[in-house]
Amino acid sequence: MNLILLGAPGAGKGTQAEVISNTLNIPQISTGNILRAAVKNGTECGLKAKSFMDAGALVPDEVVIGILKDRIAEDDCKNGFILDGFPRTVPQAEALEDMGVQIDKVIEISVPDEDIKARLGGRRVCESCGATYHIEFNPPKVEGKCDKCGGNAVQRKDDAPETVIDRLKTYHEATAPLVDFYKGKGKLTTVYGQSEVSETSKLVLEAVNA
Ligand code: ADP
Ligand code: ZN
Repeated sequence: MNLILLGAPGAGKGTQAEVISNTLNIPQISTGNILRAAVKNGTECGLKAKSFMDAGALVPDEVVIGILKDRIAEDDCKNGFILDGFPRTVPQAEALEDMGVQIDKVIEISVPDEDIKARLGGRRVCESCGATYHIEFNPPKVEGKCDKCGGNAVQRKDDAPETVIDRLKTYHEATAPLVDFYKGKGKLTTVYGQSEVSETSKLVLEAVNA
């Protein structure tokens, strides 16, 4: 099954994509994670992406489309995949169609902007393995340390409050039109983000299995 998770930054796409990935045994493809790894490794594509990411802006379509195309051509994607953070613009969605990729379902996770600001402000991410935490809602056992690998759990640069406002604006302008894009194709299900992560997961899996 080929799935897309849509939602504002901080709506919980990554967490829910992981649940779907483990449940259906298909890979989770996060363009944000791929881009952050490229920045860390100083690749050419990482160099191109860094300034956009730090500013909370979108990386140019041709860069992310290239990354995604390479990733879904890999062997583990043969039986399906869950896209987390792609597409983020209408041209990216059209590029998927041009590649001949059939999307079965699109799940939108809807969270009010005010909640997003609170979630992202307290979010901490492990520098080593990418696990995410929240200082209030889901703190690591030892402050600043990842439960899974002991790495440092830090605030992402783009989770700074000023940048969050820009990311939300970008979401509403560039990405939210995809809700209607996929609604028009009869593929969209909206799930409302719950305060309990496991409650949201239940609704997401119901939508996947519907
Ligand atoms: P979030 O959903 O919390 O914003 P991501 O990890 O998905 O975080 O993305 C982080 C950043 O990576 C984005 O702000 C953007 O700069 C870049 N990015 C990720 N995916 C895309 C995409 N599909 N198109 C353009 N930029 C992207
Ligand atoms: Zn870790």
